[in-house]
Amino acid sequence: MEENSCNVPTNVGFSVPVRVSRETKPDASLVNIGGVKIGGSEVIIIAGPCAVESQEQLLDTASSVKNGGAKILRGGAFKPRSSPYSFQGLGEEGLMLLRSARSETGLPFVTEVMDTRQVAMVAEYADMLQVGSRNMQNYPLLKEVGLTRKPILLKRGMMATVEEFLLAAEYILNQGNDQVILCERGIRTFETSTRNTLDLSAVPMLKSLTHLPVIVDPSHGTGLRWMVPSLAKAAVAVGADGLIIEVHYKPEEAICDGYQSLSTNEFAILMIDLKRIALAIDRDISLP
Ligand code: PEP
Ligand code: MN
Repeated sequence: MEENSCNVPTNVGFSVPVRVSRETKPDASLVNIGGVKIGGSEVIIIAGPCAVESQEQLLDTASSVKNGGAKILRGGAFKPRSSPYSFQGLGEEGLMLLRSARSETGLPFVTEVMDTRQVAMVAEYADMLQVGSRNMQNYPLLKEVGLTRKPILLKRGMMATVEEFLLAAEYILNQGNDQVILCERGIRTFETSTRNTLDLSAVPMLKSLTHLPVIVDPSHGTGLRWMVPSLAKAAVAVGADGLIIEVHYKPEEAICDGYQSLSTNEFAILMIDLKRIALAIDRDISLP
């Protein structure tokens, strides 16, 4: 295809690639994760620990977030850590624990894949594959996950523009996989008081430019437990189709990202507030 023929002109200063463009497909896409659909009127909450640490930690956290109203479990088995000396995740053992948490709770799960060589294995276990912020422009990885028929949760690169984010998603659709969900998780700005600057403007912007569902990660977006509820509520109000929230049964003992993880009790309280916001904008969050 010619360079220009794959882009749809817009009034935002750049063209949107053809497969992700809302001009090409005006109706919102629904992505089905083990029977849970994201992109419809219900706002879907994904919750769980940053990293899978142990059977007790995962099962306890998974059943609590389910009772709180989460529909999908999260948990990293392969962790992209800034330091090579930090805990790197349990690997395949973590995937097996996620699978048993799914059997116990019925919750489908999303987990990160960092390397093209791991895609087939992670896809054997997971209901949705996460491509993390650090890998948003890892083009071989985008192509590899695009060849699977698993839903893909694509997180915005911390230095990526909305245009680059949409182009990264286009890589996946271009391989034949249209089950893609975009996740705003905060970008790097001059501000240092929060871990990242959660770009909530990106939500209505993305929703206007693409038919793909858009969710928000207020945990990595702020890096601060006490701010997560405020930004989670704001994300629902601004039109996010879902949220991904870090929750830990003992946040103070978490190996990874405990300072931004909600306790299971804080999560349950937040869910009640989130439902009220969803109802106010003619959406819903079903609670058990
Ligand atoms: C995560 O969700 O655990 C994670 C590492 O997120 P990000 O890629 O957005 O930093
Ligand atoms: Mn984390």
